[in-house]
Amino acid sequence: MAKAKAAAAREAARPTREEAEEAVRTMIRWARDDPAREGLRDTPARVVRAYEEFFAGYLQDPNEILQRTFSEVGGYDEMIVMTDIRFESHCEHHMVPVIGKAHVGYLPDQRVVGISKLARLVEVYARRLQVQEKMTVQIADCLQKALKPKGVAVVIEAAHQCMTTRGVHKPGVGLVTSRMVGAFRDDPSTRREFLAVIGRSGAGALPNT
Ligand SMILES: [Zn+2]
Repeated sequence: MAKAKAAAAREAARPTREEAEEAVRTMIRWARDDPAREGLRDTPARVVRAYEEFFAGYLQDPNEILQRTFSEVGGYDEMIVMTDIRFESHCEHHMVPVIGKAHVGYLPDQRVVGISKLARLVEVYARRLQVQEKMTVQIADCLQKALKPKGVAVVIEAAHQCMTTRGVHKPGVGLVTSRMVGAFRDDPSTRREFLAVIGRSGAGALPNT
């Protein structure tokens, strides 16, 4: 288990809360403000607490969420789609928010998961430092591996604050990414049905399938 070992090493080398708060003070000074002034005095502690929330996904194992599956589905073999799963993530290049929604679908093969699990799966990956493309693939591949359905489809639409509040300053632009596996990749009618459900049918609906 090289992965578990690496995680343990990371945990052992993890800075203390005090060290993390000191780092925030450094950034405040870097921004040319005074971390000792009244309005900022409690800010490092608040920022560190916010980080615990923003990055809680590192403590969760997405495979665990999908462990409990149901096979009593009365022969249901149509696609299952959860649309508009809102998420907040942070871009790993600038550590600023990426806010968007994910649409997750799969074509079951005997087994299904509780629908809330799809939303939790998105959340676990969102609450990490992310790249939207990577997150799209991670969600799809995790679902495919855990459930072994006939196919998985994930589409994510998101606005990146690193594009809207800095750099090119382009408000209103959204990035759309998708990952199609199995039937969603191989069967155009399955893919069309999924895109219709999530309201993305029509030409040019998806840039990078
Ligand atoms: Zn960025």
